[in-house]
Amino acid sequence: MFLLWDFDGTLATRPGGWIDALLSAAHDHGFGSVTAAEIRPHLASGFPWHTPGDPHTDISTAEEWWGMLRPVFTGAYRAAGLDDEAPSEIAAAVRDTYLDPDAWESYDEAAETLAGLADRGWEHAILSNHVPELPGLVRDLRLDDHFEAIYTSGTIGYEKPHPAIFEHALDRLGDGPVRMIGDSVSADVEGARRVGIPAVLVHSEDESVQYRCERLAEIPSELQRI
Ligand SMILES: [Mg+2]
Repeated sequence: MFLLWDFDGTLATRPGGWIDALLSAAHDHGFGSVTAAEIRPHLASGFPWHTPGDPHTDISTAEEWWGMLRPVFTGAYRAAGLDDEAPSEIAAAVRDTYLDPDAWESYDEAAETLAGLADRGWEHAILSNHVPELPGLVRDLRLDDHFEAIYTSGTIGYEKPHPAIFEHALDRLGDGPVRMIGDSVSADVEGARRVGIPAVLVHSEDESVQYRCERLAEIPSELQRI
């Protein structure tokens, strides 16, 4: 029996998300005047998870994946008033800035909850719309010992809620009950439901979802309701 876990917003978070990563990269290059308000509208599209109906299975390396995003970052910096070579130079630095483990934090109850569920017989895997380097990030956050597998859309080529990314994981997990846990109604709960996997929504008060809890520590009791 397996639990599939979303990563970002479920087990860990990078406060400020992509916007903070772009601001930090700009700041590191001497452009501390760039603001979140200038950047934000230009990050509302262009990431692969914004168009989960469009697979990107043609992208086979992390370099290609980040290359796909480079124009998005460059466009955001140009819109913030940066010109000449600066936008493309800083855009190239976003990768390292985003992946800086010091900028990430796991939720307080994550390790404890994963260990407690393992004691109850659950095995764990991550199923995330994320960067190709997600396994390294999970290792940096010292959560990797809890997981039998880490599946990231960045290498699989499909984004939740596309059924193919769930099927990719299911094909590899073997028989037995599977549950999904995540913080997104559309990607995690609805996506899982479409392939027959019950899901628990976490870090949410959305009352439209049958199984949900605000804290990770509440997941074991919520799973017993399914
Ligand atoms: Mg999430």
